[in-house]
Amino acid sequence: MRLILLGPPGSGKGTQASLLSEKYDIPSISTGDILRQSIEAQEELGLKAKKYMDEGALVPDELVIAMVKSRLIKPDCERGFILDGFPRTVAQAEALDSLLNSLGYSLRAVINIDLKDEVVIERLSGRRMCKRCNRIYHVVYLPPKTTGICDDCGETLYQRDDDKPEAIKKRLQVYMVQTTPLIHYYQEKGKLISINGDREVKVIHEDIVKRLV
Ligand code: AMP
Repeated sequence: MRLILLGPPGSGKGTQASLLSEKYDIPSISTGDILRQSIEAQEELGLKAKKYMDEGALVPDELVIAMVKSRLIKPDCERGFILDGFPRTVAQAEALDSLLNSLGYSLRAVINIDLKDEVVIERLSGRRMCKRCNRIYHVVYLPPKTTGICDDCGETLYQRDDDKPEAIKKRLQVYMVQTTPLIHYYQEKGKLISINGDREVKVIHEDIVKRLV
């Protein structure tokens, strides 16, 4: 099972990716998580990416494409994978096509999680994340048992810099201009499955699984 999750920031791609990863026992690969870990570890890639990420812009294609290539050739991807947050531009989608071809892999589907801008803004501004395990919370809709502390690992939660109002606005613009052309790109290839993202996490998950049968 090889899947791509498409959708605006805050549409629940990360949450759905981890549920699908558990269900199909395949790795979920989030380019955003890999980049944030690289920043945390003060690696060269992270240092190059940080300035783009902080302002809500996309990291240059060549950096992200190289990063995904080195991840997809790992043995745990042989049985399948879920891409969360990649591709985000047509150039990335084309690079992914040729990589999958060269590995002899084909895509099962591209899940497009649909969500209105107003809902995106409400979700992102209340989002909190665990620094250690990347678990996602929301101050109103998905609060941890103890305010500010991860239920799973006890680490302090934080708000991503790019979940602050100015960066959210920019990310939505970037999504509209650079990523929405991919909806058409994958529709043409007959791979697109569109899902209403304005529902409960569990209902969306069940809908995706049903559509993949
Ligand atoms: P995310 O966690 O998926 O919302 O990604 C956070 C940020 O990481 C984005 O706003 C971009 O700056 C960067 N990023 C993640 N994935 C990509 C990608 N495929 N192409 C370019 N930049 C990316």
